[in-house]
Amino acid sequence: MDVGEQELLTAIGKVLSGAGPEVLVGVGDDAAVVRPGPGDLVITTDVMVEGTHFDRTFTSARDLGYKAVVVNLSDIAAMGASPRQAVCALTLTDAVDAAWTMELFGGMREACDEHALWMIGGNLALGREVTVAVTVIGEVARGRAVTRSGAQVGDAVVVTGSLGGSAAGLKIAAGSAVSWSGDERDALSRHFRPMARVGEGQGIAHAGATGMIDISDGFSLDLSRLCRASGVAANIHASSIPVHPAATQDQALAGGEDYELLATIPPAAVVPLAAELMEQFGTRLSVIGEIGPGEGVTIDDAAGRRTLDPVGWDHFA
Ligand SMILES: [Mg+2]
Repeated sequence: MDVGEQELLTAIGKVLSGAGPEVLVGVGDDAAVVRPGPGDLVITTDVMVEGTHFDRTFTSARDLGYKAVVVNLSDIAAMGASPRQAVCALTLTDAVDAAWTMELFGGMREACDEHALWMIGGNLALGREVTVAVTVIGEVARGRAVTRSGAQVGDAVVVTGSLGGSAAGLKIAAGSAVSWSGDERDALSRHFRPMARVGEGQGIAHAGATGMIDISDGFSLDLSRLCRASGVAANIHASSIPVHPAATQDQALAGGEDYELLATIPPAAVVPLAAELMEQFGTRLSVIGEIGPGEGVTIDDAAGRRTLDPVGWDHFA
């Protein structure tokens, strides 16, 4: 590292300066002090590890910082909650300098600003690879968090946005190309600058969602997790899956890192909810199947009905 720790911390404190009214003590003391609101606290954390989650040769520091916050916002969104504060812990290596680190915090700040989220503390250490861990604290009205375990037989299975774009973007980025099509550029941004569906998650919750999960590890894997937690089965219609225009169906089913929301909802609530999400956020809501009794996930395609294996990113497989 080309500057001292205190100098870097002072600079980072400036990038992150500002705090919401509920933050009584922010960056700079031994710990932050926050006065909680009237709702339930919703807390999530995620670590991104160099070599596992990102490749520094084609990931900018700014995009990495942005995404490290967004992946947590997506989990807050999947509970139907609203993000409030964040803290981060970073491991840096001798291969990165102060400018790179400041860019990383700039990206974090961008993601925080988009969602009125306050980064209220952090920690830096030197290590063998770059790791970026972010914790986000959110709030939801008492007893109103939407879990994975409430899906009911007869519910519609819905998904926001499109699937497979992130996996397609990663493949495009890792390859070599002189120029990209519009769809390919969109896939790249889906990978490096994913959107957290925070407003959409709250809308889905208010519409009466019985279960919700964000698609981080792959559609088929995350849907199977929701079904298992709820003690139900799901049947999916292949032709209804909103495949990103640059992606294959396999990337949509198993690619992961789309950070779209997958929810179960009483069928009567679907049409007004879809209209609301389109009107408020420009986000499409697709009905892709239904919940039934039993267990596991099946998919109907041109060849008939088959079992959809939970394929995706299993971190310990
Ligand atoms: Mg999640």
